[in-house]
Amino acid sequence: MNIDGMKCSRCRKPAQHRLPSHNARFCDHCLGIFVRRQTEKAIKQFDMLEPGQKVLVAVSGGKDSLALWQVLLELGYQAEGLHLALELGDGKFGEASLAASQAMAQRLGAPLHLYNMAELAGFGVQQIAWANKRSFCSVCGTLKRYYLNKATLDLGFEVLATGHHLDDEAARLLGNLVRRHQHYLDNQWPTLEGAPGAFAKKIKPLCRLRGAELKSYAKAQGWSVAKGDCPRSKGATLPYYTEAVRLLEERMPGTASNFYLGYLEDKGAPPAKPEAEARCSVCGMPSFAEVCTICRFLENTRKRESTKRDALKEQG
Ligand code: AMP
Ligand code: ZN
Repeated sequence: MNIDGMKCSRCRKPAQHRLPSHNARFCDHCLGIFVRRQTEKAIKQFDMLEPGQKVLVAVSGGKDSLALWQVLLELGYQAEGLHLALELGDGKFGEASLAASQAMAQRLGAPLHLYNMAELAGFGVQQIAWANKRSFCSVCGTLKRYYLNKATLDLGFEVLATGHHLDDEAARLLGNLVRRHQHYLDNQWPTLEGAPGAFAKKIKPLCRLRGAELKSYAKAQGWSVAKGDCPRSKGATLPYYTEAVRLLEERMPGTASNFYLGYLEDKGAPPAKPEAEARCSVCGMPSFAEVCTICRFLENTRKRESTKRDALKEQG
């Protein structure tokens, strides 16, 4: 639907999308051009990919990672998808995420690699969280990072792309500054270099695009996407920072980009390459300690489950 009789800032045809932070209005076609150009610009600006390079896209089924996958293919990269099925205790969210990822793979005619986190770990996230007295979200996030990285290396890819966008990164930056999490601040950069056999290179090619712009893009494409937030994210604090960024952006368009991209500009250089760390004695993945966090999580869960089983046997 045309907005207020306005014309596209590029082609002067009727405009369907308003982009206040760029003081622009676009028709569906020119919005697609804008999204591709911003992605291309981020890829060049932050040394993400070589022309035509192979890249694995972490596809959650949400609008952002679906858009990322399509745009990377359109830009000529060999992009395959990786979906990690999560058990979130709410079948619907997981099912919708998987269905949206598979529908996209079919539209693009590109391979989608499927993994199931509970199968990889041998336990559900909730079991692991209980056994380790951690919050569901923090355990889920830690496991997700570990298995996404491991799957990328196992599948023979060097680069993993995620759908994090400008609002995500601005919210995370705000949270890290407020809490003075220096270690996370040091590593906040849209490209993190990899180390052979240990870490995949991690890139966020949508870091110049706002969530609302990607929402418009998904709508213009007519996609059915997995909507809503994870049903288990209630205790997380990031949504407060996301809300703060949204409010600032609404009152002062362009704030998120000035804040985040300006921060990166001042910082000037990416973080140091990861050291060739010691390896976990159990799984062989990089670890500062003799046994990595994930293997400790799983060992504690095995112990707790076996204690539970013994107690049940005693009860008869
Ligand atoms: P989120 O932390 O849920 O906002 O997700 C950020 C990005 O992480 C998404 O855009 C995806 O690229 C990736 N991601 C999140 N969940 C999954 C998943 N279950 N499988 C694959 N990639 C995911
Ligand atoms: Zn390990």
